[in-house]
Amino acid sequence: MKPKIFSLKFGINTCYIIKGRGTIMIDGGPSKAIEKFKKYLIQYSINPNEIKLVVLTHADFDHSGSANAIREITGAKIAVHEKDRAILEEGRFNFPPGVTNWGKISHAIFAPVLKKFPIPPQKADIILNDFDYPLNEFGIDGKIIHTPGHTSGHVSVLLENGGLFAGCLAHNIRLFTPGPRLPIYAEDIEQIKKSWKLVIEQGAKMIYPGHGKPFPVERMYKYIN
Ligand SMILES: [Zn+2]
Ligand SMILES: [Zn+2]
Repeated sequence: MKPKIFSLKFGINTCYIIKGRGTIMIDGGPSKAIEKFKKYLIQYSINPNEIKLVVLTHADFDHSGSANAIREITGAKIAVHEKDRAILEEGRFNFPPGVTNWGKISHAIFAPVLKKFPIPPQKADIILNDFDYPLNEFGIDGKIIHTPGHTSGHVSVLLENGGLFAGCLAHNIRLFTPGPRLPIYAEDIEQIKKSWKLVIEQGAKMIYPGHGKPFPVERMYKYIN
């Protein structure tokens, strides 16, 4: 069964709902995204109770801020990697450093402003580790893969059809990059290249980034090697 993919835009972030035999969501959006989230559910005719899992690609504030609120509405479980768990549970402000010129400049501009917004501590239900986590029990033909580099606990969801929900493994939004590129913020950019090699080896074809529009994986080749 070909899964249906729904995009949910919250400012500069894009979350996704994947509907196969079951329904899961990728990322929890920034804080205060819940009213817009409810509108998307109506627009896409998705019953909140259908969503059984929210996979946080990582625990940065813009990808996880509304996770608790989404769980309250849907009853979904929240999954985060053990290496990003503390960021989520402590409500810690995390913003990986800039690794390009614009990344460094924009980080210096944005971080002091964004830091002022309080982030609520949130709890995860499923703690991921470095092993693949199959999604069959959630009715999705695919798995969660550990893809560190942007943060040490960054994960991606790879579907059997090659769809890759890549979080901040790539950026494809004008505010950041002029097209699909490696992210402009990262803890370890060389590690990100390794993560790319891993997901390509495992069959990633169409990339759904956490910032910006989907694109074919071939667009990344020249930045990885
Ligand atoms: Zn991030
Ligand atoms: Zn982000």
